[in-house]
Amino acid sequence: MDGREHQEDVTLACADTRDRLQGYLDGTLAKSESVAIFLHLRDCGGCREEHEHLQAMFSMLDELPQLPVPDDFDARILDSIPLAAYREMEPLRRDRVPVFLEESYLPAWLRDARTRLAGLSVTLAAVIAVAVADQPQPLLLAAVVGAVPEILVRCQGWARQATLAWRRAEN
Ligand SMILES: [Zn+2]
Repeated sequence: MDGREHQEDVTLACADTRDRLQGYLDGTLAKSESVAIFLHLRDCGGCREEHEHLQAMFSMLDELPQLPVPDDFDARILDSIPLAAYREMEPLRRDRVPVFLEESYLPAWLRDARTRLAGLSVTLAAVIAVAVADQPQPLLLAAVVGAVPEILVRCQGWARQATLAWRRAEN
């Protein structure tokens, strides 16, 4: 801002003064700023009133009694947390697996034994047919696709078991 180098000589605008009143009271301003505010307060009734107001509030805050921290403060905080209930839920937390490992994550029709059996039948038939087919590519594709439901269900089951075993070992 212009004129700052002659701060002692210029009268700060009221808004500027009021912005700095807290710093002025705290004694955190540069000396030149403090002097400028001191001079402004001397000449400006409105800002002087604001200054007295703040000063009164600060001394009131200073006079507030210091409340001692009770000896059992930590214990009371800990007591207010339902730790026992939290510990009782430990088995529930331990038996949780990521949602994609929950059985219900796969659609029921895909988990159905009939779907899996039908898929495996397709795979078996395709594998047998590959041996005698002239164009084995579509049959290989059918063999892979047929096995998908069984593979998904199996892999999910193994991953779920492994996760649970790992969680139990960890605890
Ligand atoms: Zn003023």
